Amino acid sequence: MRRLYLIVFLFIPLLLSSCGGGEVKKSAENVFSKDRAPYYWGKPGEYYEAQGDVMFSVIEDMLEEYPPQVGAPLGRVAALSSLDMLCHDTRYDDSPPFHSFLDGRIDHLIASLDRPSRKGLTIYKVFNDAFIVRTRKATVAFDLCGKYWKLQAVDSLRLSSLISHCDALFISHRDSDHADLESVMMFLSQGSPVYCPEDCFPSNGKVTHLRREAVETLPLPIRGGRNLDVTLIPGHQDNLQNNVYVVEFPEGYTVAHFGDQWEGKEARPVVENAASLLGKPLDVMIADNWLMPLEETVRSFSPRLFVTGHENEMSHSVDHREAFWLSFQKLENMDLPCPYLVMGWGEEFNFRK
Ligand SMILES: [Zn+2]
Ligand SMILES: [Zn+2]
Repeated sequence: MRRLYLIVFLFIPLLLSSCGGGEVKKSAENVFSKDRAPYYWGKPGEYYEAQGDVMFSVIEDMLEEYPPQVGAPLGRVAALSSLDMLCHDTRYDDSPPFHSFLDGRIDHLIASLDRPSRKGLTIYKVFNDAFIVRTRKATVAFDLCGKYWKLQAVDSLRLSSLISHCDALFISHRDSDHADLESVMMFLSQGSPVYCPEDCFPSNGKVTHLRREAVETLPLPIRGGRNLDVTLIPGHQDNLQNNVYVVEFPEGYTVAHFGDQWEGKEARPVVENAASLLGKPLDVMIADNWLMPLEETVRSFSPRLFVTGHENEMSHSVDHREAFWLSFQKLENMDLPCPYLVMGWGEEFNFRK
């Protein structure tokens, strides 16, 4: 795996110099204005801002050139690892280049959602562990927030646009990078129910608190007077309730979102054993890339596709932001029963059986 790591950083300059050289130049022209200083001697702050503008723009172009694919194709690893480097440099935390990049990614996602639904099941990654999953007959969101701890990652206007496409919100647990009151109120005001564990917004009577101490399948209402069968698995993140939801779409696709599942060694069998109680095959498993034990849990659920979440949660310290390159490295070294997919913010992937 060290080989992959080395190749990525050798590949980035090659990519910038050779792959559609005109395209990279176009990016640079887009972000430079005539009155911006062409030299930065003595102005490190201006240098870092210009570097951020250019590199975020280049990453945007690279993600367009190399859309989501299973496994670790070099273009994907290069693009997402470049993003890791910027996201682990705290000078860019909450900076204008970072927000401009993220706004662009969310706009990209909104434009995708505005287009007619594709056949099969489409997975959209928003930010952190927030995903939207859509078929032609239903669209649900998992852990969709505007604010993630202190970071306003998605502004109210963009958040409202995302939510307008969704028929229900499933919140895994109460942590502020998964549960955001502004988002909850928007879902409710647009007629879409919000499901969360009992210890999440405990005094809020408008959300639907769900918790079972055994694996159980329930028909749950979504917007428009319809129901979806959802299997609840009673997970934890330390002492917090962490619901693992397995949603069955009307077309028969099943998707599980694991939130911040983290039970420690003693309680681990609760979730691992849940796999045998599902009673139906799992198509897509979405889990934080630091889920432990990752390999054993994926193997026990044996999905058709495994998707990672929670990379670069910017309110964590850099040692626990969990880089995309870490996702690639971990997964490349595991013996998984299915292909895996690492998605960037604002990206989509169409899955078909
Ligand atoms: Zn958490
Ligand atoms: Zn989290």
